[in-house]
Amino acid sequence: MKQYDVIIIGSGIAGMNAALRFAEQNKKVLLITKRTLQQSNTRKAQGGIAGVIAEEDSVEQHVRDTLVAGCNHNKKSAVQFMVQHSTAAIQRLIDLGVPFTKEHNTIALTQEAAHSVRRIAFVDDYTGAAISQTLTRHVRQQKNITILEHAFAADLLVEKGHCFGVQIIHKNKYKNIMSGLVVLAAGGPGQLYLHTTNPPIATSDGLAMAIRAGATCKDLEFIQFHPTALHLPGKPCFLISESVRGEGGYLVHASGKRFMKNYHTDGELAPRDIVTRAIFEEQKKGPVFIDIRHKKRTYLQKRFPTIYTKLKSYGIDMASNLIPVSPAAHYSCGGVVADLQGRTNITNLLAIGEVAYTGVHGANRLASNSLLEALVFSETVTKNSCKPTKKSEQFSIEKTEKIPPEQRKKLLQIRRELRTTMWHDVGIVRTAMTLKHAQQSIKTLEQKITPLPTNNILGSEIKNMLIAAHTILTAAQKRKNSLGCHYVE
Ligand SMILES: Cc1cc2nc3c(=O)[nH]c(=O)nc-3n(C[C@H](O)[C@H](O)[C@H](O)COP(=O)(O)OP(=O)(O)OC[C@H]3O[C@@H](n4cnc5c(N)ncnc54)[C@H](O)[C@@H]3O)c2cc1C
Repeated sequence: MKQYDVIIIGSGIAGMNAALRFAEQNKKVLLITKRTLQQSNTRKAQGGIAGVIAEEDSVEQHVRDTLVAGCNHNKKSAVQFMVQHSTAAIQRLIDLGVPFTKEHNTIALTQEAAHSVRRIAFVDDYTGAAISQTLTRHVRQQKNITILEHAFAADLLVEKGHCFGVQIIHKNKYKNIMSGLVVLAAGGPGQLYLHTTNPPIATSDGLAMAIRAGATCKDLEFIQFHPTALHLPGKPCFLISESVRGEGGYLVHASGKRFMKNYHTDGELAPRDIVTRAIFEEQKKGPVFIDIRHKKRTYLQKRFPTIYTKLKSYGIDMASNLIPVSPAAHYSCGGVVADLQGRTNITNLLAIGEVAYTGVHGANRLASNSLLEALVFSETVTKNSCKPTKKSEQFSIEKTEKIPPEQRKKLLQIRRELRTTMWHDVGIVRTAMTLKHAQQSIKTLEQKITPLPTNNILGSEIKNMLIAAHTILTAAQKRKNSLGCHYVE
């Protein structure tokens, strides 16, 4: 039976780049992902990846902007490390063939909120899709990487603080797969919230698995809400990238009146948490829009092809119409505590990307620093040596069970109620009362079906969401004062 040196859970930028780097070292890699390789938050990224590229930029300036946005709650040494490696990280993507947008034969750079200079490299408005496609192409060609799609990581196999493999559900069967190293790159918890920019895969499985295994987590109260998701009732949440504001878009009421200067001197380009709360407040007076009608249609079509086309399909022409927007849950600044090489408190368990807490984001992530973080630490994680596990590979043939329709209905109801609770009570503005209310609601939901049927993927995801929600709520209750994304009224 095949033995693996490393199992990687997740096929976003973090998981796929780590897989490639381990494979280059001749390690046998198993890459598992719950849907297809390209279903990830990475694929959805629009704006770009931050890095020190421009002549007028410097490591010090990028570090400073990251710390200011993060309310100085960041781990400074980690920020410094990430930024120092940013140029090489972007070069890595160029070497792999990511077709970054160019201007006068050099990489074009865009502006996003709270960056003091233009430092975001991008591929029009589909940077994540371009990165994901490029990595997928390479991963599929690498002989040392075995890809297992539609394989759901159900649990980490851990004994006495040592991780020695992963239990997965694949083709309706449980399997235990052993390896010397396990890399958790399973992304964020966005689906915990009723309104989110995250795709359906983001059900906090990685975080919940790590919590069950005894991993230390930190800063989970800092859930970042993106200020500007498209707000059309009945239509799916769709991000309107920060670079639309970076390239001159204003936030306005239906009357065309701007309001951001009342909240911050940087106006529309204030840090994300401030813009989010400003919109949340202004929505009490009426709907909020982005106005970029002062830019030429040809420019908008070229610079924002995805957004332009998507809006057009809903009957909105961004060159002549206002774009209705509202905040949505977007990113988790906290996660599983990992050092600069991804090491957690569990031996042989490494965590990278959005699921990890490296301390770089502090209380509020600087825009476009997350792809950078995931990429930088997916490089350093491969410095860990893989010792073969003493456990032998076991293939369990235990089958998952089909969920009866009635129970499925109940499970979906629990998920809906949980997401609603998190949105209203552990959302953009929190109070001691809403947090207490959330605590009661989550407890009630946990008791709605006991025991929760976890011998299937839907049940496992909901269990994971309940665990993650509970842990985020507890973290939010512990932090009594407002800081960054955690705002207590
Ligand atoms: C709409 C949107 C726009 C964004 N724009 C930007 C941007 O412009 N710049 C920027 O820096 N950041 C941006 N971000 C954030 C950034 O995309 C993510 O933080 C980053 O891509 C995370 O990468 P990752 O590899 O850690 O996780 P992901 O890309 O989310 O990948 C996680 C992987 O784990 C898999 N997985 C999850 N659970 C399991 C399980 N139980 N079993 C098996 N597999 C599992 C998933 O299927 C997925 O393949 C954006 C995010 C969104 C949602």
